[in-house]
Amino acid sequence: MTSSKKTESKGRGKGGERGFEGLGVSPGIAIGPAHLRESGEITVPEYQIAASRVKAELARFRDAVSRAVRQVGKLKGKALSFHGSAAEELGYLLDAHLQMLNSSRLIGGIATRIGDDRRNAEAAVMAEIATIAQDFAAMEDPYLRTRVQEVREVGRRIVRCLSADELASFSQLPRNSIILAEDISPADTALMDPQIIGGFATVLGGAEGHTAIMARSLGLPAVLGIADLIGDIQSGDTVIVDGSNGRVFVNPTERRLATYQRRVKEMAREIRSLARLRDVAPITRDGEEVVLQANLELPREIAQASAAGAQGIGLLRTEFLYMNRQDLPDEDEQYNALVEILTGLKGLPVTIRTLDVGGEKLATSLGERLPESVNPALGLRAIRLSLKERELLDTQLSAILRASAHGPVRILLPMISTPWEVKEVRKALLKVAQDLQRRGTKIADPLPPLGVMIEVPGAALAADALAKAADFFAIGTNDLTMYTLAIDRGEEQVAHLFNPLHPAVLRLIQFSVEAALRARIPVSVCGEIAGDPRYTALLLGLGVRDLSMTSSALLRVKSRILSLDMQAATQRAHIIMDQADAGRIATLLDDFNETLG
Ligand code: PEP
Ligand code: MG
Repeated sequence: MTSSKKTESKGRGKGGERGFEGLGVSPGIAIGPAHLRESGEITVPEYQIAASRVKAELARFRDAVSRAVRQVGKLKGKALSFHGSAAEELGYLLDAHLQMLNSSRLIGGIATRIGDDRRNAEAAVMAEIATIAQDFAAMEDPYLRTRVQEVREVGRRIVRCLSADELASFSQLPRNSIILAEDISPADTALMDPQIIGGFATVLGGAEGHTAIMARSLGLPAVLGIADLIGDIQSGDTVIVDGSNGRVFVNPTERRLATYQRRVKEMAREIRSLARLRDVAPITRDGEEVVLQANLELPREIAQASAAGAQGIGLLRTEFLYMNRQDLPDEDEQYNALVEILTGLKGLPVTIRTLDVGGEKLATSLGERLPESVNPALGLRAIRLSLKERELLDTQLSAILRASAHGPVRILLPMISTPWEVKEVRKALLKVAQDLQRRGTKIADPLPPLGVMIEVPGAALAADALAKAADFFAIGTNDLTMYTLAIDRGEEQVAHLFNPLHPAVLRLIQFSVEAALRARIPVSVCGEIAGDPRYTALLLGLGVRDLSMTSSALLRVKSRILSLDMQAATQRAHIIMDQADAGRIATLLDDFNETLG
């Protein structure tokens, strides 16, 4: 699915070609001019805030500072892997940034401007930074005078952490621009228009994080986790991003450029040839039918799903409704967005997942509802947040139920760990449905099925009990792998350890599938492995017949299904499930795949 080589760079000095290696998280090749995200001036919104908003604005500011501290801390970790004096120099610089971010003068000054002057956080940061920079510039000490630039950089970092709005200016960039950045969040990625942006590369980020998933779904080639990417690259330098092999070249040689241009053409040919499978039914050679659906991150991907011949949407991530904004979407806005998707899908089924924020998926609109947490992945996220903030849940359920009058809908709950959570949501669903019916609003009859994501190891182990409370299962192998192996899916430093072929993960998948089959409820897999042909035979061999994936992967998976024999896949899955070693499992699977050609 993704190449996850050890991060290593092979710089060849200024002016000539420079090559970098990282995690190839989204396949394909992009060639275009570099745009360094962290360069250039930032313009920020400036407005007065009401006295009643001061507390929330201060909390937003403090969140941004914590995020900035975390970013700098991570960059420091990366700097340690640099060679010689570069590591030391960068280490000092980042220490200075950390000191500023912890400085009472800076933080206190900004807080005063928010609290006393009632200015929005971005404007308060810029004003305070300007004052401090002025004081530094006036100092006798030449060393301190040179720190002005750093003060500004720290200010820009805080502003970036406050909002992703600056990325809107991406629309002004030349076509095929390649974004080079320290870090790109899922919300940032959602703002990228593939008509303008060719691809991106970053210093931070893991292969299974949501930034990677968003890049794959937008079809943007991306390489993450390149330790020394930034450095002396200039905006405008020609860059090649090879997302299939995890390589990036800056100012490539003529020869390299020509080779990659040839490969771009070959890939386009392959895509054209796969397109012929769009209307072919996904049936194995021995006649077993499989259902292939698409995962949807953003409504604008409907066209891609339909071009790939998706038989429905197996996972609609509704987080897009909450990203890159300060307010919450009301029921009508959610309803309208869902109806647009259902209408676009012309009667195909859509599995709508309720809000799954928290962890690395932050939604600015949730503000204080999503407090800072030491272990956000284990904290108040997904269904836990919805069950705590009932109006969030009720609003979303009401919008989904109203939309259910426009097409077949299923409701999916993220991060479920106990049957109690499902029962609570079912109660809420019935109540919301009654309210709507009392007002004469049309909704689906019978009510949409209510299913659960199996993505917490405890849910997989207790799948029998959950199968009694839920109408269907969708196995989320991204989080299931993360929580089973205790590997942060978005963390580049442990990305090489993230392995869905670990026998513990496979056993949990098998356990959940068997529990669903015993209870006669539908079960699908919608984690990233569903879209990687390498895993297709194994998942089918384990009894899965419904796969949901990013649209760009669908025809490749279909081609794999057409070439395999279900009986042989089942036999190979049995052999694999007897193994205790992930390496041996990988060999057994790859050997089997090779026989398929
Ligand atoms: C998963 O965890 O596998 C999943 C499909 O959900 P998400 O990637 O949105 O967390
Ligand atoms: Mg998940």
